[in-house]
Amino acid sequence: MSRLDSFIRRLEAQRLLLNTTPDLVAGRDGLILELGLGNGRTWDHLREIHGGRRIVVFERRPSLPPHRLPAASDLVVGDLGETLEPFAARAGEPILLVHSDLGCGDPAIDAALGAWLGPVLARIVAPGGHVISDQPLATPGLDPLELPEGIGQGRYHLYRRA
Ligand code: SAM
Repeated sequence: MSRLDSFIRRLEAQRLLLNTTPDLVAGRDGLILELGLGNGRTWDHLREIHGGRRIVVFERRPSLPPHRLPAASDLVVGDLGETLEPFAARAGEPILLVHSDLGCGDPAIDAALGAWLGPVLARIVAPGGHVISDQPLATPGLDPLELPEGIGQGRYHLYRRA
């Protein structure tokens, strides 16, 4: 498969999975976290499908023009290693859903990130909450769920916080 085909399949998987998330949070009050703003594509999609629910975005180097950035109150700038747990400690609302799209394509860096991030998410996501991740997060307390039909095995990952 060419890298172009692989990229397109990744985006299709992302959209399919993100489109299931309104059902995952329905009927509960709480926050959505988007880890990795990048070009803002998935944040914008989440915004569109989640109506007025608050989505807080984490990014170490926001590089979008100001009119494309989240509101300052919903953008946490800095390395996740320093920002994520302190934010969760003061959020005052349950974290119901996290979408993590942080991979840089270097297998060693991505594996190290997944190993660090999984336990943090297991601590901060509310029981019964969900994590969608581009990286596998083999972590006690995050139970892997089956992916919706149409997403290739291993292309994206869905977990439920026990
Ligand atoms: N989901 C985005 C979109 O649809 O446009 C793409 C995200 S891009 C693949 C990954 C982003 O994660 C990059 O902007 C990078 O700067 C950010 N990132 C990676 N590791 C990070 C970390 N440890 N702390 C904060 N941001 C990080």
